[in-house]
Amino acid sequence: MTSLCEEFGFEPRPWIDGCWSKAECSQDVINPASGELLSKVAWADAQDVARCIEGASQAQSRWALRSAFDRGDILKRIAQGLLSRRESFARLLTMEQGKPLAQSLGEVDYAASFFQWFGEEARRLCGTIAPHPQSDREFLVEHRPLGVSAWITPWNFPLAQGAKKIAASLAAGCSGIWKPAESTPLIALAMAPVFEQAGVPPGVIQILPGLGTQLGPLLCEHPAIRVVSLTGSTRTGRSILANCANGIKKVLLELGGNAPFIVLPDADLDVTIDHLVRLKLFVSGQVCVTANRIFVHEQIHREFLDRLAERLARASLGDGLNDRVDAGPLIHKQACLGVDRLVEQALQMGAKMVHSNRTYQNDPSLSKGSFYPATLLSDVSDNMPLFGCEIFGPVFPVLRFNAIDEVIARANSVSQGLAGYVYGRDLSQCRRVARRLEVGIVGVNEWRPLKAEIPFGGIKESGLGVEGGKEGIHDYLSLQVISVPKD
Ligand code: NAD
Repeated sequence: MTSLCEEFGFEPRPWIDGCWSKAECSQDVINPASGELLSKVAWADAQDVARCIEGASQAQSRWALRSAFDRGDILKRIAQGLLSRRESFARLLTMEQGKPLAQSLGEVDYAASFFQWFGEEARRLCGTIAPHPQSDREFLVEHRPLGVSAWITPWNFPLAQGAKKIAASLAAGCSGIWKPAESTPLIALAMAPVFEQAGVPPGVIQILPGLGTQLGPLLCEHPAIRVVSLTGSTRTGRSILANCANGIKKVLLELGGNAPFIVLPDADLDVTIDHLVRLKLFVSGQVCVTANRIFVHEQIHREFLDRLAERLARASLGDGLNDRVDAGPLIHKQACLGVDRLVEQALQMGAKMVHSNRTYQNDPSLSKGSFYPATLLSDVSDNMPLFGCEIFGPVFPVLRFNAIDEVIARANSVSQGLAGYVYGRDLSQCRRVARRLEVGIVGVNEWRPLKAEIPFGGIKESGLGVEGGKEGIHDYLSLQVISVPKD
């Protein structure tokens, strides 16, 4: 791992005001495919948080005064810097997070697309002039950066989730502190040299690996932090909202999902099954927008199950660094136990195991990895625990339905509202169904509609605010109105 740190030019320690801290490295970062130690990392403490916020506050005012063109150019240089080392970043992502290399390459591209997009958007942020009731006056409506932000990110897309927040904040003129997830700090630290080489001034981006339950409240409660942006679980979102209440902070939450995947009777089953398998094996089902409940019309239910089982049997599960692997491990063994508990409860309540793909067991070197078999369940019903929560694993729970009104009511009956999918040949029907789903984004015959150019966010318990699109910059801005004489 020393060579990996050298290769990327980072140290496994907090990065504050453009320098590596001297803290002792004591926490393990584990490769989830092999169980091997990748690196020891130093976690930040309360003093580091205070120093970080102080530095980011000082950097904030200078950064806000830079022209929008300058800020945008720096963001675009970050995108270029990342893409120029695309393969190295992807390899590190796979080793630290577990996803197959092709998916890691996709995440690097996705992350770079946010730096590029907000690099372009920075110079398009315009205020307005509004008429005043007095004919000799007018109102100037101007955007102001809200101030120092905290960017708290999860382990499933440890690079892209940071990119979304950092790119929008910097474009808006905010500085901030990146708190990566405990299991995946290395990819965040590896970005420090990219930021530096792109021209980000010291203090504008601080990187603080550490324990969320310890650092999170310190960040949320500090008066200099004006925006807290989390991508993570709904439980953490609640805690952040509570900790930010006293200081009336702007809170942006991208939380857990429970997406319905609705297969209408006229769906093209070749396309539907291919997309479903790609969606569910993407990051081994550890994705907020993955299909969590697969509703299949009863006319095609039997054929769908047979064909899905056959397709799943051809998938390959293993170490993401190996060629042609469709799914890697889960993030750690605890995650496997959680998924298994949901499957066992479903089986006890009447679900049937149709298929379980254990190809990773063919490779003895993976015996210490945290793998979970891709599992197809039929006869799933709405009262089973896995219906109401995120499974976060490669489990395919198939439910039957009869009528459109019925499936929409069941799809909307949960507390989450992030994503949904509708598959069918009658596009008018698909669109009617999509409009009635209580979610932030719907893919009609498409499994991965998320892009930097569109706003994405959840409703209900899935979150507050959006990331990406023209709208994604606004959570880091306030509006100020100045009433002025016309001349
Ligand atoms: P998590 O909530 O456990 O952790 C996310 C981050 O929050 C980590 O950096 C963690 O250290 C930090 N954290 C933990 N407790 C905290 C606290 N009390 N205060 C402040 N920060 C705290 O989530 P996870 O397990 O890393 O990620 C998986 C979750 O993220 C899933 O629920 C998934 O659906 C969700 N997610 C949502 C989106 C989206 O766009 N909506 C995208 C990816 C992941």
